[in-house]
Amino acid sequence: MLGNRSNTIGRGRKSILRHDKGNHTLNDMGEAGIIQQIQGQGTTGPASHVTKGIGDDCAVLEADGASALLVTTDTLIEGIHFTNQTLSPEALGWKSLAVNVSDIAAMGGTPRTAFLSLGLKPETEAAFLDAFLVGFRAFSEKTGVVLAGGDTVESPSCTVVTVTLLGDCPRECVVYRSGAEVGDHIWVTGRLGDAAGGLFLLSNKARPTPVEYPSLILAHQKPMPPFELGKALGAGGLAHAMIDVSDGVAKDLGHICEQSGVGALLQGASLPMSDPLKRLADQVAQSPLRWALQGGEDYELLFTASPVEEPRIRSLNAKASDRRATRIGKIIEDSGIWLDAPGGRSRLESPGFLHFIK
Ligand code: ADP
Ligand code: MG
Repeated sequence: MLGNRSNTIGRGRKSILRHDKGNHTLNDMGEAGIIQQIQGQGTTGPASHVTKGIGDDCAVLEADGASALLVTTDTLIEGIHFTNQTLSPEALGWKSLAVNVSDIAAMGGTPRTAFLSLGLKPETEAAFLDAFLVGFRAFSEKTGVVLAGGDTVESPSCTVVTVTLLGDCPRECVVYRSGAEVGDHIWVTGRLGDAAGGLFLLSNKARPTPVEYPSLILAHQKPMPPFELGKALGAGGLAHAMIDVSDGVAKDLGHICEQSGVGALLQGASLPMSDPLKRLADQVAQSPLRWALQGGEDYELLFTASPVEEPRIRSLNAKASDRRATRIGKIIEDSGIWLDAPGGRSRLESPGFLHFIK
């Protein structure tokens, strides 16, 4: 996760990664290019204890017994992923763990053990750490995660929080990004775009004020990934492919399609969007569809499943304590991510797409 919001990734790369060598910079390579280079330079050769290395939401490692070990890590940087205007210290503690639990959920796993690395500015008040830990503990108590170690260092100008999270999953229940099949239905849990709406409110001091939209603020500051539902989808063999929505459905569905060698057709009218999001979008003349597709940071689960599993997924919905899934499209043979919306059909990755959705 270089920058997990599509609208700030560029800004993040410019401020952190500019490293001119001729005209070619890390900024030009982009996150995917950088990861490809790391993967391609022989630093990660095949090994019998690594079932899945780079390329999914978690690494999947061999362990004794019937379970696989899942490992993921994500970093939140002040100025890129949060500011003191968008996240309180308590919300930062919560969210730093939540974004990692989301990746364990995306494999169908159970989150277990966290390691917390903090880069702290020397002038940071002690109250910051107190509040951070309140948020971190509140989230870990909800999910049963135990903090078992970490690292603490000085950071000259911005706060940096890295959480590494271990989890497990019965080996045959792990769900990868690469398993989507032509004809599968595409599902997403919860609502899309609320976190982007919340970020809009927190970043713009003008009216409307954040207090008018508490659910959107909560979605941005304290996401609650539906890991019980993720586990049930993996355990029941329901999901063929799964990913968490951290960069927006358009991009994250792209990862599933790329790794499964398929394409996707989304129904714009089926995308689950909350009433507050639509009301805010109307009030500030923004596109709720764009927030839903590209906003990112929803930390919901996006998965594909055979059409014959629809009744079982709907019955899981009825029982789910943490979230419901909505059917939003289907997997197709032709490559590309397509959207059917009132104006017609458009290809999401094409530049024209941004003009298409108003
Ligand atoms: P996610 O959004 O699910 O956290 P990312 O897009 O951050 O996933 O990462 C995609 C894949 O690339 C993951 O398998 C991750 O472990 C791997 N990856 C990202 N950065 C690095 C790195 N610097 N070195 C090795 N692997 C990396
Ligand atoms: Mg992920």
